[in-house]
Amino acid sequence: MKEFNIKSLLRPHIATLKPYSSARDEYSGEAGVFLDANENPVGSVNGGDYNRYPDPLQKALKEKLAELKQVQAANIFFGNGSDEAIDLLFRAFARPGIDNVVILQPTYGMYEVSAGINDIEVRTANLSKTFQLNAEAILKVVDENTKMIFVCSPNNPTGNLMDSVLVEDILNEFTGLVVVDEAYIDFADSESFTKKLLQFPNLVVLQTLSKAWGLAALRCGIAFASVEIIAILNKIKPPYNIGRHTQQTALKALHKEDAKKAMVKEIVRQRGLLSDELSRLKTVKHIYPSDANFLLVKVDNAKAIYNFLLESKIVVRDRSRVVLCDECLRITVGTAEENRNLLESLKAYPNLANR
Ligand SMILES: *Cc1c(COP(=O)(O)O)cnc(C)c1O
Repeated sequence: MKEFNIKSLLRPHIATLKPYSSARDEYSGEAGVFLDANENPVGSVNGGDYNRYPDPLQKALKEKLAELKQVQAANIFFGNGSDEAIDLLFRAFARPGIDNVVILQPTYGMYEVSAGINDIEVRTANLSKTFQLNAEAILKVVDENTKMIFVCSPNNPTGNLMDSVLVEDILNEFTGLVVVDEAYIDFADSESFTKKLLQFPNLVVLQTLSKAWGLAALRCGIAFASVEIIAILNKIKPPYNIGRHTQQTALKALHKEDAKKAMVKEIVRQRGLLSDELSRLKTVKHIYPSDANFLLVKVDNAKAIYNFLLESKIVVRDRSRVVLCDECLRITVGTAEENRNLLESLKAYPNLANR
């Protein structure tokens, strides 16, 4: 592996920044009279236990997740959605107007948006025809100011896992951060890159409670990385970025991993059934293999079918204007009933009979 130096990667003003020190940072003990944070001592107007500021470092939540994921709590960061972790990575490591990041198209749109907000140049390398990493294309666009490469695996919107050997090649060759976004990892039959944190100091793994755990409304994203990188994210995050209600609800969820696994199993089963049924429709030209909870489906006229489905109040995602995704719709796997509705509508699509 090439030399990786977190200090030279970090923006200089972040290295010297003196972070906000909250009341709960300075004293977090159990007992005592808390007259340090200007909270309301009486209670919350709507009842519930919300008058005190929450744990800024979400200790209980991290301990439980560390146990589930077999990592150390010090390797975990919680954000207000993965979006917050992505934004903080930009703010910590990429200098506006100078540095760049590399994204591998077609991929999740938020990396580019977050780069734009932070005035960071985005360089793109296309995935291969089979939507795999193309090391040559990536190396062509990387230069000395490239701070991060975003690898989404399983990838959105293509649905496939990236070849882990190729991901490791990038981790070995690239001296910046490799951000592996595993939002859909629970739906894949594959080991998480969290298992490789000790091996690669330049690895950041993103996961989320938004998909498999069924908690999109909660806004709880996770970054796993070295202790050094996590310390940097903690230094620049808003002090109380995860509310008490979110911490409590997320902790409750983490105690129900079996329920998550059962939901994932059912969604994966529905994915197979939906794929089989879709493949019988004449209008469907190709269904890409999926390791996620959605299918990328090539149809004969994506825009027309998208609009036709909307008339039946069924919303899918039209990805036909995205690189390498001509005439493709991205369809989330729904419940058995939702999938049946979708299939019935598609069968009624004008002039298109079953094979
Ligand atoms: C859905 C999704 C996320 C999750 O984002 P949150 O902000 O945690 O809800 C992250 N990455 C990808 C690629 C996704 O598709």
